[in-house]
Amino acid sequence: MQLTDSLGRNINYLRLSVTDRCNMRCFYCMPKEGILNKGHDAVLSYEELQLVAETAVGMGIEKIRITGGEPLVRVGLVGFLEKLSAIRGLKHLALTTNGLLLPEMAADLHRAGVQRLNVSLDSLNPATFSEITRGGDLKKVLTGLDAAEQAGFPPPKINCVIMRGVNDAEILAFAEMTRTRGNSVRFIEYMPVVREEGWQRYCISGEEILQQIEANYTLEQIDKGPYAGPSRDFRIPGARGSIGIITAVSGHFCSECNRIRVTSTGQAKGCLFSDEKTDLLPCLRPPDRKRLAEVLRGIVSGKPERHGISQDGYVHKNFTMSQVGG
Ligand code: SAM
Ligand code: SF4
Repeated sequence: MQLTDSLGRNINYLRLSVTDRCNMRCFYCMPKEGILNKGHDAVLSYEELQLVAETAVGMGIEKIRITGGEPLVRVGLVGFLEKLSAIRGLKHLALTTNGLLLPEMAADLHRAGVQRLNVSLDSLNPATFSEITRGGDLKKVLTGLDAAEQAGFPPPKINCVIMRGVNDAEILAFAEMTRTRGNSVRFIEYMPVVREEGWQRYCISGEEILQQIEANYTLEQIDKGPYAGPSRDFRIPGARGSIGIITAVSGHFCSECNRIRVTSTGQAKGCLFSDEKTDLLPCLRPPDRKRLAEVLRGIVSGKPERHGISQDGYVHKNFTMSQVGG
């Protein structure tokens, strides 16, 4: 079954957030003091998350990515993933993590049926990494990448947010990782979500990132996988990993958007940057599959044509990425 929105986009991908808590404080994602912890009841139980996932798959969603906050900090996650991976019709189960807890959890995640890991890593320099994450330990993340492969995962995809004057000098080092380590690297444009003082200075377009790489390497454009969504993908000839550019802010994005999102508090969103969200709690407490399916279908058909984040007059929406799941 294909799930299609009103513009003919095939919606096959659900980003499901299991928590908005995190064991890091990346400055572009969260305020220093973190975010106010929601009470226990505000966060969807694993049974409720499972119902959302089953309903979405029943409607035509084929890929689910577990995200957060940091998904690995939620107690009981592995048992939940085991149940999730058993959903009939779910073709692809992936998880995005900051990697800190992978050394102890990678093997369990693999056993639970997770097929791919994305690890967010914005610097290969310990001091810069610590500055971006407000105290994160790069060594643990690099150990986590190795642990993932030892557990049987393909080399994790690296998500790398490039910010001018912070880590833009490392673009080529990340591109080189696709050859030396075999990881695929996806360069993501910095999105002004937290809007700290002077945020404009960090912005660097995907086009500029690509030009820097092209000035140093031959790149061949490659086809992306079936659930890849809005990235342009390249390969340095002979490299095991690919290079993706996600121009979330500067353009070439919305027309290929294939996803919907559900936050850990049960808010469903058709667009990351839209104010529009729908509370799923009335369909979950008590559980009502039929109504839930209708509401999710409404989210898909109401997906906006494009976001307005790069347009003049865009008014900052009051959320952090950790609350929505990126
Ligand atoms: N904690 C996990 C992690 O860091 O991978 C999963 C959640 S995190 C919110 C998901 C993704 O959102 C990460 O790859 C992160 O880099 C990205 N992200 C967060 N804030 C962002 C921003 N302001 N601009 C671009 N990407 C951002
Ligand atoms: Fe945490 Fe991920 Fe946000 Fe960093 S990007 S603060 S690791 S949720």
